Amino acid sequence: MDQEKIREIEKDKYMKLFRRQNICFVRGQGCKLYDQSGHEYTDFFGGIAVNCLGYNDPELVRAISEQAGKLIHISNLYYNLPQAELTERLTESGEFDRVFFCNSGAEANECAIKIVRKLAYESGSGKTTILTARESFHGRTLATVTATGQEKYSAPFAPLPGGFRYVPFNDLEALKEAMTPDVGAIMLECIQGESGITPATYDYLVGVYAYAKQKGVLLVLDEVQTGTGRTGAFYCYEHYGIKPDIVTLAKGLGGGVPIGCCLARGEAADAFRPGDHGTTFGGNPLACAAANVVVGRLQDTDLLAQVAEKGEYLADALAQKLARHKFVRDIRGKGLLRGVQLDESLPVASVVGKMLSLGFVIGTCGHNTLRLAPPYIISHEEIDEMTDTLETIFANTNL
Ligand SMILES: *Cc1c(COP(=O)(O)O)cnc(C)c1O
Repeated sequence: MDQEKIREIEKDKYMKLFRRQNICFVRGQGCKLYDQSGHEYTDFFGGIAVNCLGYNDPELVRAISEQAGKLIHISNLYYNLPQAELTERLTESGEFDRVFFCNSGAEANECAIKIVRKLAYESGSGKTTILTARESFHGRTLATVTATGQEKYSAPFAPLPGGFRYVPFNDLEALKEAMTPDVGAIMLECIQGESGITPATYDYLVGVYAYAKQKGVLLVLDEVQTGTGRTGAFYCYEHYGIKPDIVTLAKGLGGGVPIGCCLARGEAADAFRPGDHGTTFGGNPLACAAANVVVGRLQDTDLLAQVAEKGEYLADALAQKLARHKFVRDIRGKGLLRGVQLDESLPVASVVGKMLSLGFVIGTCGHNTLRLAPPYIISHEEIDEMTDTLETIFANTNL
């Protein structure tokens, strides 16, 4: 099928949701992607911060193939080996008491939200409200678009579920002012991803943690994008030295195979009784086999240290080559999750298009920001090439 035909089918028959680049990738190897006509691209987006081990990782491919030949799905009415192994891997540090596997980030957050509600229900405390941040992003289901503190995602889908209130991000005083007896949890991203790669300041997140503890309110961290090693630590919250009650993971967890996870400790881990929550596909052997490779790689090799080191290398390259440029407003992020906010005079879409034509896949996020989230195996040389190319584009753009 040629590119024109693919485009036509999408245009006529797929729901009108995505603004896609006119490109159809057919395979990948390492950090390289190849389109239908064999053009090579270096990937600095990883399918939205998902493909953390790059493409065609031999161990990941072998684990998935072998598991597919044994058992793809069996439901949670029975035990399965890869799920037990993944559960053990994710809880062996003792940080979390229990996990629940699902299929996406939104579902992982739904689980977290239901835990908060269930605890309020059981105790009769009335603490059903969850405070979330403006400019946050928590997913596309009705509850998670409502949790998301950006009206553009939720307003068209009213009536929305109740029980969410919004506070400005990185403003501890505003959070304290919003604290009322009905609040059961505070739900935040350590780095707001979709709205522009905006990290929580150290003082803010540490302050929120202490305040939540003081008030007896749960701290839920949505690490769907920042977790599974993306920032150079397994969880981004480790950089802040805090201990959330609930954490959610998804994007990178399966190295490209869909899987989400909600991890909880203390009373949050024991909120559910049989029947309270469930999933048909979640925790299936295939997805768990993939996640075991990713988590195993992060736990058993020096990959996390590599992410941290390459993340600093990328940050330095961006700072040295781009920071002084008139189009660059700000450079933010941690590890291999970096945002370059541009002046409104230069729309990010035009930069993404130019980068594609020059053989680099990069992404965007809120407030005219370029989003860089390459596979963890990205090389220094690839970082040099990509940042040189960005610099050249900025230098040759006259507005
Ligand atoms: C991507 C993302 C989600 C939603 O994940 P899906 O798998 O698309 O449902 C939720 N929270 C954050 C922080 C995300 O980046």
